[in-house]
Amino acid sequence: MRLINPILYKCAYALLLTYCILLQASTQLHAQKIFKEPEKASVSFRISPALWLSESRFNELLDLFDRYKDVTDELTFFTSATHPPLPLDVFRERMTVLKRRMQAARKRGYAAGVNILSTIGHHEENLENSLQGAYTHVTDVEGRISKGSYCPNDTNFQQYISEVYRLMVRAEPDYIWIDDDVRLAGHMPVSLTCFCNNCMDIFEKETGKKYTRTDLALLSSQGLVLQKLSVRLAWLQHNRNTIHRLFSMIEKEVHQLKPSMPLGFMTGDRFFEGYDFDEWAETLSGNGHAEVRWRPGGGYYVDNNTAELAGKSHDIGRQVSVLPKDVVSIQSEIENFPYQRLKKAANIVALEAASHIAAGCTGAAFNVLSFYDEPLDEYEPLVAKLYQSRAFFDRMVKSMGRKELSGASVLWDKNSYATVNINEGKWLSGGNPVIRPEVYEAGMPASYNYKDASVIMLDKNSVYTLSDVEIKNLLSKGVYMSAEALQQLNEMGYGALTGFKVVDTSSADRIEQFTGHTLNGLFADRERDNRQSFYREPVYSLQKTDNATETLSKLIDYSRQDKGNITMGVFENRLGGRICVAGYYPWSYMGNLSKSSQIKNVFRWLSRETLPGYIASFHKINLWIRTPENDGLALAFSNSSFDPYRDIVLMLRTSFKSIKIVNMNCKETKISSSGEDGPYQKFVIPFTAPWEMQLVIAAP
Ligand SMILES: [Zn+2]
Repeated sequence: MRLINPILYKCAYALLLTYCILLQASTQLHAQKIFKEPEKASVSFRISPALWLSESRFNELLDLFDRYKDVTDELTFFTSATHPPLPLDVFRERMTVLKRRMQAARKRGYAAGVNILSTIGHHEENLENSLQGAYTHVTDVEGRISKGSYCPNDTNFQQYISEVYRLMVRAEPDYIWIDDDVRLAGHMPVSLTCFCNNCMDIFEKETGKKYTRTDLALLSSQGLVLQKLSVRLAWLQHNRNTIHRLFSMIEKEVHQLKPSMPLGFMTGDRFFEGYDFDEWAETLSGNGHAEVRWRPGGGYYVDNNTAELAGKSHDIGRQVSVLPKDVVSIQSEIENFPYQRLKKAANIVALEAASHIAAGCTGAAFNVLSFYDEPLDEYEPLVAKLYQSRAFFDRMVKSMGRKELSGASVLWDKNSYATVNINEGKWLSGGNPVIRPEVYEAGMPASYNYKDASVIMLDKNSVYTLSDVEIKNLLSKGVYMSAEALQQLNEMGYGALTGFKVVDTSSADRIEQFTGHTLNGLFADRERDNRQSFYREPVYSLQKTDNATETLSKLIDYSRQDKGNITMGVFENRLGGRICVAGYYPWSYMGNLSKSSQIKNVFRWLSRETLPGYIASFHKINLWIRTPENDGLALAFSNSSFDPYRDIVLMLRTSFKSIKIVNMNCKETKISSSGEDGPYQKFVIPFTAPWEMQLVIAAP
């Protein structure tokens, strides 16, 4: 007896082959469709219920947008104005109204979708009018809860979630946005969650070990580094799984009713959740490969602290860097909470959108209008400013699209949260694993994927997530590191590749003094005093462990006495890696001409002249350069100061001898190269206004 009928087998094989070819074709079709670079920016306004529940107020809103036609493509409607989940009957009633509002918006030419503010909820606010029921609240490691947020693993609560998503689909939106309440950190009044009994049981199933909350707190913070890391990494994976399960459920509920419904997700820097954006995007897309959108965000609600603007762009750039290429609609969160007009200037709102596009977004979602049922007169100048800026956003996106950034990157990865307070203990008390280097303000191009960066910046703890092979690979590239990072690398056995060791530290009265090294240019003997008695930070004395090292600066005190050898030096190791160790404020207070010049020379040397460009003149400028291609280059920079800047010197690693600069009014100016310096062309930008961004493009 033959086990397989050969004819049937051949037929089945042919069918399988045909299926594979069809599948491949459909994948290619899918790929062709979704990999298309955007032609213009994708812009939406997010609208509070106060502006859409009343029909007359809603019509006023539509009239306002009609006066500034094309300021937005989409109107995205919040389901509520307060953050805990809504009772089902309220949600149902709102979707009935919203269905009509979305139809009316479409008639005026806008795409219209729903933004569910609360899937699991966020913060204790308006509790008496919010969802009540036998649901588990998110719980911290000490057993405390937030009454405004529910555990995403509670199967009873998941039924509520399923129902609200079904209600949204039945309101026939063009898309659905999941808000940033879907997170495990920061549900006030508690911080890191969820450690409820059910979540602890799930962790036991995942790891095969039983932990109490107390065990987890202790084991993640005590013992050897590797032991702590193993518990922490397991918990980060548990968090990734939690969000994956929630999204899998939402995706099925939505797509079984409407298979093509685009789902969007709003994030921040989701380190504690395991930063699994590519996998979550895949989950939200589902088997039917529905479109997924993203809204990266962060906290920059008022314009009091201007450095926070570019700071948020860096957070956003990092979020974009882990998104799959087929996520094309990336609208940055622009939020003016609590929406008081005088708290953030219209000029800054426009610059913010442009700055986040420079860092990787392809559009913006403006959450800037009133949350009151009131006339919108005071918001009209802001809408007018964004209308005026719209052509610039479009121009930026058309030139930059989804092209990768090139430049200098901080070392981080999806596991970085596992390294927080690794030596100090208290993992679950929170913290940010990533530094914000000030060198970006000096005109060094920012990128966020260290694996492709020209220079990698390394602070303490960040190497703990890397394997031996990855660390050796890292040290064969251009690396700028703090003395704390040097100490850790040396302790891990990589001393032969670093060239230096720490021999002393001081927390008072040290001043950095430059040597006559060529990387210091004309600034031998110049000093940088960051006044340790005010801006407290330990500084480090280094010693050479290899004769091939060179010294860039030393430490002196207020009596001009030499206080300990080297504090900054460079070394080229046997792997070909170029290393710079900086023991004196490596990440901050670099605003002198001498330091600013030195650090640019150092980064260019570290990169072996592969930096795609930088600002050579002494200006406060943030710069983002997309990886140049044969068919052209695109970059953008912002004047991040209150002074108008003349004669900004932009060095570009390109063969193009002329570039076009486009200001925020879309005025174009052609600039020819003023000469060469190695592989770099020098372009002098005549004028940039304070807080203005300029787009730079070149094409054959
Ligand atoms: Zn839980």
